[in-house]
Amino acid sequence: MTREPEILPATDGSSIVRTKGDVTSPVADVCEAYGSSMHLHAYETVYIRDIPVFTAKHILEVCYQRHRCIVCRREVCQDIPFKLSGHFITRRYARLVGQYLALGMTNKAVHRLLGRNVHLIKQLEKHRLKQRYSAPPKRPSRYIAIDEISIHKHHRYATVVSDLETGHVLFCEAGKKKQQVAHFMKFVVKKWLSQVVAVSMDMNAQYESVFHEAAPHIQIVYDPFHLIKLYGDTVITKIRRRLQHEALEADDKLTYNTLKGGRYILLSNRSTLEKRDEQARKNNRELFESYEQKGLSLPPGRRKQRTRHVQQLNELMEVNRELNTAYVLLEQFTLAYQVHDPDTLRTGLQQWCAIANQSGIQELVLFSETVARRMEGIINHARHPISSGKLEGTNNLAKVIKRNAYGYVDDEYFFLKLMDASRRPYYKPRSPRFLH
Ligand SMILES: [Zn+2]
Repeated sequence: MTREPEILPATDGSSIVRTKGDVTSPVADVCEAYGSSMHLHAYETVYIRDIPVFTAKHILEVCYQRHRCIVCRREVCQDIPFKLSGHFITRRYARLVGQYLALGMTNKAVHRLLGRNVHLIKQLEKHRLKQRYSAPPKRPSRYIAIDEISIHKHHRYATVVSDLETGHVLFCEAGKKKQQVAHFMKFVVKKWLSQVVAVSMDMNAQYESVFHEAAPHIQIVYDPFHLIKLYGDTVITKIRRRLQHEALEADDKLTYNTLKGGRYILLSNRSTLEKRDEQARKNNRELFESYEQKGLSLPPGRRKQRTRHVQQLNELMEVNRELNTAYVLLEQFTLAYQVHDPDTLRTGLQQWCAIANQSGIQELVLFSETVARRMEGIINHARHPISSGKLEGTNNLAKVIKRNAYGYVDDEYFFLKLMDASRRPYYKPRSPRFLH
């Protein structure tokens, strides 16, 4: 230090502490290439941001020497040991940024607290995360899930692999094709892969064949949520659309209106609808007793709710036998899935397929064919009752990260953030079903 620290006012009303000093580190006095002597050529000054002094920004005004060779004119500068190379900040400043970020603070919050631009903080954060997550996982995983998550608008997806027991995101890459699985297999070591028992995935995904080829010991389990969603999309919704179309052609307004907008009703469980109706009735009664009866208007944010969900479902069922069949079969399919014995599940599903085939409804026949073709993966669910449900949590996490960062342009950084966030203690995914 060559001068007492000065306190200067900053434009934003805060203050800046400026400390001036010289570097004392040694500098070569003989040229590496020619062995000729080097002479002092110039004094340079550099401003380096240090960690704050209480609430004041702290700037180091560092003076260093530049030496030049008398023969080849090569220049050598005095080393500044506390400066982070490539940035005008001290090493301890970078460490502090890393500590704040590791606590879960957003980049923006760290930027506000420590000053410096968000871009620098992002660079430091990316570097820190890369060091942490570029190595393959060491901790063995028994159950994993692979799925796609939406990362941008316009149907751009990334493949995410998670450990189902810890919820940790193990691998993340843009794209949802076979290559991504191949890259994942390359990323984790063989020994790690040999410890995986089962993987949960979407029946329609392209990932399956890669697992069959590269890791045949891993059992593939189709995710029940995906299957039930598939049933909703390919059977119930299609039947509803077809009937709606037929009603329109036949000029049957009543049927058409009943069918229209019945999607939610049809895709919910009867018991869920009953519960909703019960809650709505309770809410309405409460509102009536405490406000309407006394001649008061309803408070803001409170309103009467619909209590006709079950009735609407019954009406929809009455409209058509086909819809009714599809709905009953969905409930049976869901029930069959809850069995934990593979043989019972197989018998149940075979019976289910026979009934679906007998119905003669084209959408149901098609679905039962899919079930028959993919029987093994469905039955594996009885052996390993896992599901990608946890990945839904990852999806939400991705949304939160995107919201905090006002959209990520840098995919690699986004994936690193996702991996980091999935390991935070405060992110507690739902307890896995297989621990029951
Ligand atoms: Zn030289």
